[in-house]
Amino acid sequence: MDRHMIDDNSTSVLSPRRLCCQNFANQAQEQSSSAVTIIGAGPVGLYAALLLGRAGIDVQVFDAEQFVSQSPRAIAYFPVVLGDFKKSGIYDDVVAAGFKNTIGVSWRKPKTGGQLAHLGGNDPTKFAIHLGQHDLANIILAHLKKYPSVRLQFDARLEGLDNLVSEDRVIAHLVRGPEKVVVRHVSRFLIGADGGRSTARKLLGIPLEGFTWSDFQIIAANIIYDLDTFSDWGPANFIVDPELWSVVAKTGTKTEKGYEWRVATGERDVGGEEWDEEKALIRLRKRLELLLPGPTEEAEVVKISPYKMHQRCASTFRNGNVVLAGDAAHLTNPVGGLGLTTGLMDSSLLAPALKKILLEGEPSTLLDSYAETRRGVFLNYTNPTATANRQRLLSTDADTVKEREDLFAKINKPDIPFLKDMFEAELSICSTRD
Ligand SMILES: Cc1cc2nc3c(=O)[nH]c(=O)nc-3n(C[C@H](O)[C@H](O)[C@H](O)COP(=O)(O)OP(=O)(O)OC[C@H]3O[C@@H](n4cnc5c(N)ncnc54)[C@H](O)[C@@H]3O)c2cc1C
Repeated sequence: MDRHMIDDNSTSVLSPRRLCCQNFANQAQEQSSSAVTIIGAGPVGLYAALLLGRAGIDVQVFDAEQFVSQSPRAIAYFPVVLGDFKKSGIYDDVVAAGFKNTIGVSWRKPKTGGQLAHLGGNDPTKFAIHLGQHDLANIILAHLKKYPSVRLQFDARLEGLDNLVSEDRVIAHLVRGPEKVVVRHVSRFLIGADGGRSTARKLLGIPLEGFTWSDFQIIAANIIYDLDTFSDWGPANFIVDPELWSVVAKTGTKTEKGYEWRVATGERDVGGEEWDEEKALIRLRKRLELLLPGPTEEAEVVKISPYKMHQRCASTFRNGNVVLAGDAAHLTNPVGGLGLTTGLMDSSLLAPALKKILLEGEPSTLLDSYAETRRGVFLNYTNPTATANRQRLLSTDADTVKEREDLFAKINKPDIPFLKDMFEAELSICSTRD
């Protein structure tokens, strides 16, 4: 930790945290405690809570919102994550609730769906599950009921932190409910799983290094549309086009009118304009007409959200007794579905490390191993892979076009060493977890 950030008298981290806490000092406070505090009931925070709860560890989860976020985000869970779900007891429910994609993924042209390359589908034991991340969160919430050592509090926002390293504890200052009750919550460790705009990360002054893509933003929409009637289209489709590039995939939800589909489509980022849902819907309708076959005016738009894309990583995932996980620690563009995948595997490594420290007396330096390992996984695998996935869809740069053509040629005429390499690449998201 930087010297200038330390208060010499107490080893508490200085402003803005300290100022924040001084402001709380004069207000009526609720006091509570737990062995581990988790800030954020997104899928990463909830998954960490589940793994810790299964070990009997006393956990308090806080989330600023009143319920699990319903915005259209992650939908794909790959074998590497599904294997972990088996160990955490949620696999059967996830498979039952989602769409089992044994067909694989295709790269296609817009509108006609003309196939450029196809990967997967030749081994029925290897599949992905498509399931909205809010549905995954709800499954984890249902399982958490079995573990009374885990408590959950919605509508409670983290606003201040005392990272008391010399006292081996951390104090979270939260504001709860419409009455704005101030809560002072003490724990030995705190997990910041509070998403890309993480308050925990900001309070600790940890920079989020990297960049934001300034060329395109994403419009993510869930639509109900009978795309299955067009036999050229599969359950997961990457659309290759410099302007219309998109990901079109089943969300896992089936309605009377057919499957729900996620359309995450790149849109030139004009910058500075405020999000206007009505205008965005008009643009989406035009985009659907150019992107998909058939009478797209019949598509029912269920949800729509804008997203800025980033390739960013926190400069460290640990500061004293606070650790970061998921989007709070790293952000990537969504092409290829590696963001939540990497976040869930963070929890999968972090929970056993905390268990060893809290229940088996191992040193807290284990958290350094967690932080370095997972940061390395993001920087060495997730970030370059997701960047290449995105560029492959839209770039007209000669080198990228050649890389795309070479890759498609290999995929279309697969040889065993190449497929083995691809499989091992996916494993590298977790291979260092133990
Ligand atoms: C369009 C799109 C598609 C995607 N598709 C995929 C995919 O298919 N596969 C994949 O792996 N990833 C995908 N991702 C990425 C994925 O959505 C994120 O990586 C994932 O949401 C990260 O989960 P999280 O739990 O870390 O954070 P979040 O889901 O952002 O949860 C953070 C939680 O913290 C809470 N919070 C925030 N601030 C505070 C505070 N101060 N106090 C208390 N609580 C707070 C929030 O309310 C929220 O509930 C996609 C993303 C987008 C945008």
